[in-house]
Amino acid sequence: MKALLEVSGISVSFDGFRAINNLSFSIGPAELRAVIGPNGAGKTTFMDIVTGKTRPDEGRVLWGEKSVNLLRMNEAQIARAGIGRKFQRPTVFEDQSVAENLMMALKAARAPWKVLVWRPRPADHARVAALAAQVGLADSLTRKSGELSHGQKQWLEIGMLLAQEPRLLLVDEPAAGMTLAEREQTTALLVDLAKTRAVVVVEHDMDFVRRLNCRVTVLHEGSVLAEGSLDHVTADRQVIEVYLGR
Ligand code: ADP
Repeated sequence: MKALLEVSGISVSFDGFRAINNLSFSIGPAELRAVIGPNGAGKTTFMDIVTGKTRPDEGRVLWGEKSVNLLRMNEAQIARAGIGRKFQRPTVFEDQSVAENLMMALKAARAPWKVLVWRPRPADHARVAALAAQVGLADSLTRKSGELSHGQKQWLEIGMLLAQEPRLLLVDEPAAGMTLAEREQTTALLVDLAKTRAVVVVEHDMDFVRRLNCRVTVLHEGSVLAEGSLDHVTADRQVIEVYLGR
């Protein structure tokens, strides 16, 4: 099957330091992938390149059936092309309700150029309710977001990203700071989302990666060190050396 995102041979240097070094990566249209690697491995820089925040010095980043060159687009164009990114810290509007936050996200997705005149229609309210249900917040629509638990705020933000109907979702350490029950629910959410879109989860927590039960890409010094099931990559001698310093 054709990849949704095809990254080949990208490199980028900062002041002579190669943060990304000849990295290739591809993901299918309905695939869940964990990207792991020690601090400084290049995980953030990789996501910055895919989302257009950082431009690589070399390499290619191709998107979708038509292999569109993402390196010709800016961040906003890439987001509109269908790539959503969730940063680690939730950035919801705390004094607004869950429904209001989702409606704002829908407004931004539906009418990015005429934000002041857009009025929600009944279908938009239904969409907000559906988004809330999708991320486990159906019973919290009228609650102020500031009253939500940390985990619920993370889900709300994922719901806000889903308003843009991304075909690829990049999620940075979604389980950090969550309770066990929240982590389980987050696992189920990510697995469910990856049935209909590509989801890349950047994660430090190996226990959480195990729960995701998906293909894993290990980054080290800006390159792919190993790829495969978690059992496969954790049995890899080079991966063991990198993680345990042996
Ligand atoms: P990770 O997310 O895996 O911890 P990063 O992508 O943040 O790794 O960083 C990879 C390397 O690139 C690190 O050594 C980091 O210090 C360096 N780096 C990242 N961004 C910049 C930048 N804007 N300027 C200089 N060095 C950077």
